[in-house]
Amino acid sequence: MNSKNPKVSCIKDQSDVDQIVEEHIIKPNGENTISRYTKGRFLGKGGFARVYEFINLDTKRIFAAKIVKKATLIKARARQKLMSEIKIHSSLKHQNIVGFDHFFEDVNNVYLLLELCPNQTMSELLRRRKRITELEAQCYLLQIIAAMKYIHSKKVIHRDLKIGNLFINEKMEIKLGDFGLACKLEYDGQKKKTICGTPNYIAPEVLEGKSGHSFEVDIWSLGVILYTLLIGKPPFETDDVHKTYRLIKMNAYSFPDGSRISEQAKSLITRILKNDPERRPDLDEILQHEFFHMANCIPKILPVSTLAVPPSES
Ligand code: ADP
Repeated sequence: MNSKNPKVSCIKDQSDVDQIVEEHIIKPNGENTISRYTKGRFLGKGGFARVYEFINLDTKRIFAAKIVKKATLIKARARQKLMSEIKIHSSLKHQNIVGFDHFFEDVNNVYLLLELCPNQTMSELLRRRKRITELEAQCYLLQIIAAMKYIHSKKVIHRDLKIGNLFINEKMEIKLGDFGLACKLEYDGQKKKTICGTPNYIAPEVLEGKSGHSFEVDIWSLGVILYTLLIGKPPFETDDVHKTYRLIKMNAYSFPDGSRISEQAKSLITRILKNDPERRPDLDEILQHEFFHMANCIPKILPVSTLAVPPSES
């Protein structure tokens, strides 16, 4: 796997995670057992976690272990955020969501054992490919929408949908991950007020912050994702976040001259990127859009070669 992903294997390991990590489990009968994991390659780092391959020495099962240092959890807000991520992610089980196996802790760290996605994220895919074809985008979007339909049916809003949180497993299936900013609504129609998200993908109503936000923020991000996959960069990208926020609020984006994307793709992006959340289509309306009915057949899975090179035309 390392040879296929040189970018991952050359990232420096600066952690103080032990080579062997022990999980102490107390069974209901009071018996104490230990599971041992050996730390494999470094997979990446996020806002507050480092992620490594972990191999269970008994079962040989391989996981992606998201490791959070307890030293970073001193503030109550940080602890609550991690607890919320664990509570929400562990309640979800779907083919297009990163599997959450279990979590445990030792003196120094909290460990979240997740389904390993060895083909990295759509962010690395796009870095290699620059942009992808419409057929590939259709295939990926159908999987992302399946994940969104599932979480929304559970009243969960992801709130940080972006290509860096769309993981690719060894079978080339898309898996939505990182529920660090997700929230669960307690009742229908509830609006959330906390400002969160990633600048390029954040919905205008989150920036305005007045009347709160709901599931439509994920729909907005889906529009940003589709634009990014087909054009090669996010619609509101600038060199300054404040400028980006201004462009989002003004809905100022365009399709670059010479971009060879279909009228159907442009139409779907334009339908989704509406500043008024109520004017955005819901997920079923998106699925009925002509963008998904142009091809005779949208592949369920793409070949591994498309991680680096475009699919052949045939
Ligand atoms: P944070 O919540 O701190 O932002 P992320 O969940 O985004 O952390 O993970 C950080 C990085 O670790 C990701 O960008 C990715 O490179 C890697 N990673 C995370 N989860 C997995 C996984 N399930 N399989 C493979 N790599 C992963």
